[in-house]
Amino acid sequence: MAAVGWIGLGNMGGYMSANLVKAGHTVRGYDLNPAAVAAAQERGVQPVDSIADAVTGADVVFTMLPKGEHARAVYLGDGGVLASADTRTLLVDSSTIDVESAQELHNAAAAGGYRFVDAPVSGGISGAEAGTLTFMVGGEADAVRDAAGYIEPMAGNIIPTGGATTGQAAKICNNLMLFINLAGAAEGAVLADRLGLDKQVFWNIASVSSGDSWALRTWYPIPGVVPSAASNRDFAPTFTAELANKDINLAIAAARDTGTPLEIGEHVQQLFQRLVDAGLSAKDCSMIVQLVDGTLAAETRT
Ligand code: NAD
Repeated sequence: MAAVGWIGLGNMGGYMSANLVKAGHTVRGYDLNPAAVAAAQERGVQPVDSIADAVTGADVVFTMLPKGEHARAVYLGDGGVLASADTRTLLVDSSTIDVESAQELHNAAAAGGYRFVDAPVSGGISGAEAGTLTFMVGGEADAVRDAAGYIEPMAGNIIPTGGATTGQAAKICNNLMLFINLAGAAEGAVLADRLGLDKQVFWNIASVSSGDSWALRTWYPIPGVVPSAASNRDFAPTFTAELANKDINLAIAAARDTGTPLEIGEHVQQLFQRLVDAGLSAKDCSMIVQLVDGTLAAETRT
């Protein structure tokens, strides 16, 4: 069994690290948020007070952090992963971050003699809890192969994507599609309601018809239909509006770099921006349904 260092015990990292504990690994976890650490401790993660304590003696270190700036700080900062870990420790960043930051981490890790992979995930907190996430893993082939062995208890699918940063590239494109699908599910759901359809009957149809999507089946924004959906819990976050806005902006930036017009993606980004501007960054991203049903439209339309 392995010694694992885990940094970032939030909505995703909390469940993911718990699945490594269940698989028999020893996991030392660190997070800036004491509540996240306490919740992870209840699931068997050993709490530690610093990055150095998490990574010292670890066979593998996982990071699951919000954005590129956090990942850069955790890997490259004073007392960070590269200043503290042994070079035999395999480094796995599962955060969703921009390609430039991912490349910077690959470069710094290689310069320091470390093996590093970018390994973002898809599947939401329900997938994190169930251990059925899809991992997209970019890096040198031997590091990707060894990372897959540690990832296995958290994953339904482990897909090597190619060289450095290709995992992040896959994730950014996937999430562009996810958020467009979520916006589509929100519009279809509200319109179905206005046309007098029972919400469950409409969902039963759409989920086995051409309107189906992961967003529809997992994040349905109308309460009382899909148990995993944040709409049932006043939009307490499973995936915050802030992170959704970050991800779709990553796609837009990558599209600009490659001369790719994202007319629909740019429009959907504005929906998340309206949630952020209305002070709702910390709510679930599926709250964009309230821009369709009128609850938020008056205050947030620009
Ligand atoms: P989160 O905000 O719930 O968790 C991130 C955690 O990182 C927080 O607990 C925060 O305190 C901690 N953190 C931030 N800076 C830190 C630092 N310097 N040192 C230690 N801890 C630090 O976010 P999340 O929903 O778990 O998402 C994490 C990543 O996974 C993001 O990049 C997100 O885009 C991606 N992701 C999320 C989902 C989802 O459904 N929530 C799905 C797939 C991918």
